[in-house]
Amino acid sequence: MSALEVDDVTFGYGGRPAVESVSVSVAEGEFFGLVGPNGSGKTTLLKLLLGILRPDSGRIAVFGESIDEFNAGERIGYVPQQSTRRGRTMPLTVREVVAMGRYPHRPFGRFGDDDTAAIDEALQQVDIDSLADRRLSRLSGGQQQRVLLARAVAAEAELLVLDEPTVGVDREARESFFGLLDRLNSQGLTTVLVDHDLQTVVEHADRIACLNRSLSYLGPAAEFDQSTPFVQPNISVGETAVDGGASSTHANYNTPL
Ligand code: ADP
Repeated sequence: MSALEVDDVTFGYGGRPAVESVSVSVAEGEFFGLVGPNGSGKTTLLKLLLGILRPDSGRIAVFGESIDEFNAGERIGYVPQQSTRRGRTMPLTVREVVAMGRYPHRPFGRFGDDDTAAIDEALQQVDIDSLADRRLSRLSGGQQQRVLLARAVAAEAELLVLDEPTVGVDREARESFFGLLDRLNSQGLTTVLVDHDLQTVVEHADRIACLNRSLSYLGPAAEFDQSTPFVQPNISVGETAVDGGASSTHANYNTPL
């Protein structure tokens, strides 16, 4: 069974397609990379995968189940871009943020021993147990991203989806973050990564899809021609080519903590 099945999905904002006729199948345990120029529909496709947007046509299934039929929070762990706002405004401790991964499993109930165990285990797996009682706002960008990764691990997510997780994170922290992703993936966690850094995606992903509203490449990471320059997606006559819209979408696209 595929971990993720995207079948001929089209979605547009106000009738203008942002994602068109996209079909992708991600195998269980695969590390899958999604690349493409600004405004090519990457964030839109992620929002469709997370059930935040509904396709105009086509169908998306996670582990064989249509995304309309389950609570994405129980099955998909999401790591958004690093947000400077989050760091400043979060009065929560690391443990409290990681505990949020358990909420979808306990919509009405109190946490039990298995929840506490899952939280402890997630903190250890992501090597942040020593930070458990620190406030999120006191941590570096790289450490904050590890906390969000631990939140997905605590949720026992079957599919991990990351949107440019290390933008604004220094090189060393970035390398250790990707090392961690490789480790989680080798333990069986299916991973879908969007990143603007082609080199990083090629290095870590098994297969790559290059999006340019529709797919311009789908195949092994090793065969992806990185020298192909990204072309801007088609822009209709009379429309100004600003990528501000796409960037601001990214900036606002963070799951509330
Ligand atoms: P990427 O993540 O690859 O930069 P996006 O999915 O953010 O691309 O954007 C794809 C296209 O959809 C762009 O043309 C963008 O301007 C447009 N778009 C994105 N979000 C919205 C929105 N909320 N309303 C209208 N248009 C949008």
